[in-house]
Amino acid sequence: MSQVGFTGKNSNLCVDGQALWADLMQTAEFGGTPKGGVKRLTLTHEDKLVRDWFIKTCKELGCTVSYDSMGNLFARRAGQDNTLAPITMGSHLDTQPTGGKFDGILGVLGGLSVLRALHKSGYVTRHPIELINWTNEEGSRFSPPMMCSGVFAGIFKEEDILEKRDRAGIRFQDELEKIGYRGEEKCGEHPLTAYFELHIEQGPILEAEEKTIGIVTGIQGARWYEVTVTGKDAHAGSTPMPLRHDALVAAAGMITATSQVAKAHAPSAVGTVGLLENRPNSSNVVPGEVFFTIDIRDPNDAVVLEMEKELLARIKTIAEENNVSVDVVQIWDAPAVHFNKDCVAMVEQAATEGKYLARRIVSGPGHDAGYMAHVTPTAMIFVPCKDGLSHNEAESILEHDATAGANVLLEAVLKADSFFNKAE
Ligand SMILES: [Zn+2]
Repeated sequence: MSQVGFTGKNSNLCVDGQALWADLMQTAEFGGTPKGGVKRLTLTHEDKLVRDWFIKTCKELGCTVSYDSMGNLFARRAGQDNTLAPITMGSHLDTQPTGGKFDGILGVLGGLSVLRALHKSGYVTRHPIELINWTNEEGSRFSPPMMCSGVFAGIFKEEDILEKRDRAGIRFQDELEKIGYRGEEKCGEHPLTAYFELHIEQGPILEAEEKTIGIVTGIQGARWYEVTVTGKDAHAGSTPMPLRHDALVAAAGMITATSQVAKAHAPSAVGTVGLLENRPNSSNVVPGEVFFTIDIRDPNDAVVLEMEKELLARIKTIAEENNVSVDVVQIWDAPAVHFNKDCVAMVEQAATEGKYLARRIVSGPGHDAGYMAHVTPTAMIFVPCKDGLSHNEAESILEHDATAGANVLLEAVLKADSFFNKAE
């Protein structure tokens, strides 16, 4: 199938950008913080309030709403042929504890603005169109992140996830039932034709290049490790340098090596040590044990593997030079995601037709779309955020970028509507 020249409907439809912005500001009040951010943790009272608002608003636009056994919400606008599986849009309404107004929320409310544009114009698509709110994308209250799109895609088992507990020991299933959002439909059984997700970039590239739209081609691969360096606690005054087994000096070398290995695979590779525990952490004791994490990522899985190989070799050598032992455990392996070429081309063509400045981009962070790509043709649309800042109360975007992103979403959905399940 050709990847260019989707006929689309060339509908001349546009989203109502002011209504979209008003929705963003209104929902930000459910869990709004004094600093202008949002704290709306999964399955809390604030999460219930925003879900109730979502359902009420979607019904006013002529949609029916259902939810599955993990509390994922589906707002459905009927099409001409309701035997076809829907073209879907979505993202998440939950936030980090000190989150902003846009991460996740823009994707859901941008989808809502698409439903509103269709409703106002009376335009009837061939497929039903559905808007999805995924439960617990953030993974802040209950781990792991992207939890319920993960169950939907068969990455996690529902029975395991229902048993997850937050730090207060409260069970996921109990909270889901308490807010009244455990549905009958088994998670993952909802049929789909394609999935599109609009999201803020959460990085600095689009803003730096003065682009309005990121055509997201995939999500980079990532591997996480836990590293324990074991030396020997010793007196800082009486232990001669050649006789030391200093775990922190060794760890310092390993941290530097992580950065160097990532830089050696420029420009796309990244390597981070973001968590470190030094023991006993006393000013006059040579550190006997250090624990830290490593996070390496690249859009190409082969590069991630190559980085891992180089890093493990460097870590081994550094441990030997410092007379310490080291234990490295890989705790997460997320292969790179490559979005559906046709869906990516639909986004690209929608951006071109809208005359938006756009570029192709690979997502650094994970998204629900990363799991959805396992089960249905998927693509994403990014819009810039100020200074690339996200997971922060100061997260900020421009109203016209939000509108542009939603318009590209609308056009991509219409192209998918005419492209998939064609009667030939
Ligand atoms: Zn998000």
